[in-house]
Amino acid sequence: MTEALDQAAALITQADALVIAAGAGMGVDSGLPDFRGREGFWRAYPALGRAGLDFTTVASPRTFETDPRLAWGFYGHRLALYRRTQPHAGFALLMRWGQQRLHGAAVFTSNVDGQFQRAGFDEMLIHECHGSLHWLQCLRGCGQAPWPADELEPCVDEIECRWLGELPVCPGCGGLARPNLLMFGDWGWIATHYDAQERRLARWLTNVERPVVIEIGAGTAVPSVRHFGQHLLAQHAGRIIRINPREPTVAASLGVGLPIGALDALQALHERLD
Ligand SMILES: [Zn+2]
Repeated sequence: MTEALDQAAALITQADALVIAAGAGMGVDSGLPDFRGREGFWRAYPALGRAGLDFTTVASPRTFETDPRLAWGFYGHRLALYRRTQPHAGFALLMRWGQQRLHGAAVFTSNVDGQFQRAGFDEMLIHECHGSLHWLQCLRGCGQAPWPADELEPCVDEIECRWLGELPVCPGCGGLARPNLLMFGDWGWIATHYDAQERRLARWLTNVERPVVIEIGAGTAVPSVRHFGQHLLAQHAGRIIRINPREPTVAASLGVGLPIGALDALQALHERLD
């Protein structure tokens, strides 16, 4: 482990840019649930467990149509949770290492929680590949462009997981609004905001010569983050530090794996870098 950490610290020192590729495991040390398996999901939302509803059912456009108060109860609770959650100390360490690189740091994440923005990362260099819960869109797709959720004040019965009061509506047509993120069985997600993020990140990468990808808490079950990292390694001859307590394997020619949690890993690297 000591050797792996030394090697990871050296990869960061040699890089001209930091690319953070983060999955659900990044948020765990801030106290956010990662919904691993059905039991993990129901522990976080006991009312949904009692009703026998799993994550893929609740997080779907169909549930916004059939039971909008339940769907909004779930997402409203999460929005409030994300707003009051303080990003853990590892975010600030990553920011600092980014500032010490010639081209700085960029973020690619499947998380919809907005924690990198909250931690102070440059908004122009974040790509949220599954969208964000801090943005809304029209459920039926009337042509209205997505809008920020800043004015939405969730009022949720947490015991029953139900939205109380008036449901969020689309300013274009007055119909039901939904989160502007990718759900399960979702053909109506409007990704324009995130496509623009992707283009900005790609433009930034054209100047980068020796990137190091720090992949954090991204399992093989939701592969978008891993695919992004692999693509970047192939295109830019980058190296990777994979932080993952369960699936840390990396080919030795590409980088190093650290089989521990996000915050532990980042703090251990901090001791070697300062
Ligand atoms: Zn509409």
